[in-house]
Amino acid sequence: MKKLWAPWRMKYITSAADKNQSGCIFCKKLKSKADHNNYILHRGNKAFVMLNIFPYNNGHLMIAPCRHMGDFTALNDAELLEIMQLAQACQKAMAAVLKPQGYNLGFNLGRVAGAGIEDHVHLHLVPRWNGDTNFMPVLGDTKVVSEALEDSFKKLKKALAEYFRMKKRATSPRIKRNKKDKKSLPDAKY
Ligand SMILES: [Zn+2]
Repeated sequence: MKKLWAPWRMKYITSAADKNQSGCIFCKKLKSKADHNNYILHRGNKAFVMLNIFPYNNGHLMIAPCRHMGDFTALNDAELLEIMQLAQACQKAMAAVLKPQGYNLGFNLGRVAGAGIEDHVHLHLVPRWNGDTNFMPVLGDTKVVSEALEDSFKKLKKALAEYFRMKKRATSPRIKRNKKDKKSLPDAKY
């Protein structure tokens, strides 16, 4: 990944020790009902999506299993499937509302690989723009970051909800039956 200039992440890096003391941030946010405050974009059966509040870029989100698990190789099939399905959904949502030119999608496993939280695996999805100059062009002002977070949260939440609504509609039995009805129309002449 091309290094991004993200000075607001210093707050995250310097407070990492405190974070360890206060328990797993993923589990804590999942337990809480304040999804908007916690920037939780979507709750699935086995995995969930939340914005990274110390983002590398505007819209940077994370997809994590609901189960507290630090070992990627220990994730089960259902968890792996839902995490990847959510990654697809999130990319679609990002494409619709943030219109990035590229994406970084990946896991940081282990501290030396850049993992901030090692005990609960999570998949990063970072939208990228050419030069990445659209976000935080002047200074690492935390107020600007929080405003950008709020804006991205609202846009992505709406786009994700729309994605799942369309997906549900496309796979609902009623629609399938209608498609069949249409296909069987030519038979009507016999
Ligand atoms: Zn956890």
